[in-house]
Amino acid sequence: KAGVLERGAEMMGLKSPNPVVRALDDVSITVAQGEVVGIVGESGCGKSTLGRVVAGLLQASEGSVLFRGKQLAEMSGEEAEEARLKVQMIFQDPSSSLNPRQRVREIIGAAPLHHGMTTGRELDDYVSRQMARAGLDPILASRFPHQFSGGQRQRIGIARALAVQPDMLICDESVAALDVSIQAQILNLFLDLREQLDLTYLFISHDLSVVEHISDRVVVMYLGRVVEEASVAELFSHPNHPYTRALLDERPSLDPVQRQFSAIEGEIPSPISPPPGCHFHPRCPMAMARCRVERPELRAVGSGHKSACHLND
Ligand code: SF4
Ligand code: MG
Repeated sequence: KAGVLERGAEMMGLKSPNPVVRALDDVSITVAQGEVVGIVGESGCGKSTLGRVVAGLLQASEGSVLFRGKQLAEMSGEEAEEARLKVQMIFQDPSSSLNPRQRVREIIGAAPLHHGMTTGRELDDYVSRQMARAGLDPILASRFPHQFSGGQRQRIGIARALAVQPDMLICDESVAALDVSIQAQILNLFLDLREQLDLTYLFISHDLSVVEHISDRVVVMYLGRVVEEASVAELFSHPNHPYTRALLDERPSLDPVQRQFSAIEGEIPSPISPPPGCHFHPRCPMAMARCRVERPELRAVGSGHKSACHLND
């Protein structure tokens, strides 16, 4: 459960000096062990911020993160470090997180060696196992990141994350930079790893098709708030919230020319001064007078299905 005030214009790509942005507003999510929860929404909706809070890379100004029922903020240093190792992040661009001067062996092996998960003598075997898990030929361990393709570099990032024996992977647009055919390979790798290692995922993506492919449950965010949450089957067959319905309507067609057009009217409003009432009202085709003043609460609209829209009254 988290609220996050992000200070700093740079993060939002804005010029005004130090506005306070409520990047997450009363967001509460629970992820069960072994579950894949997709977080979907347009850029600026707070989904990356949520991922960084869960990963412990960013502190929530209000609320808390619980790992196995225990507050991250209340753990001792050692305990907190262990919890942080158990939750690993996989970013969009593996290149920027791989040191170009390090060989793959060092990239993958440094953290587990540091944390005593392997020894210097066993390191080569240990690294080979992680590479094999991520679908890389262990013979390539002495190469540098630039000698790999984009998809293979993402596999190096995944092997590095697996090397510290995580329970949970937070994937933030982890396949967004890859060709569609490579995307499918990496998504299937994530699903295989889930089976083999009982991994749990928070899967952040702007791409509904990607989220549909991988998730058990989906959380839809808009301007820092959760607007809808349901199982993947329910969300895609019976979307409730007008924003979710608009997102589904504008799903990229297979025709690349059509992909460039958006069905949702208007720009995403500035997160610095979000519209009052329902944040979505300026773009919502169903908006009523009430929507401009009153915030809709997230409420049950079916079994395991929640939506935040006044139309449900
Ligand atoms: Fe549209 Fe009103 Fe529902 Fe918001 S609360 S999504 S503006 S109908
Ligand atoms: Mg993002």
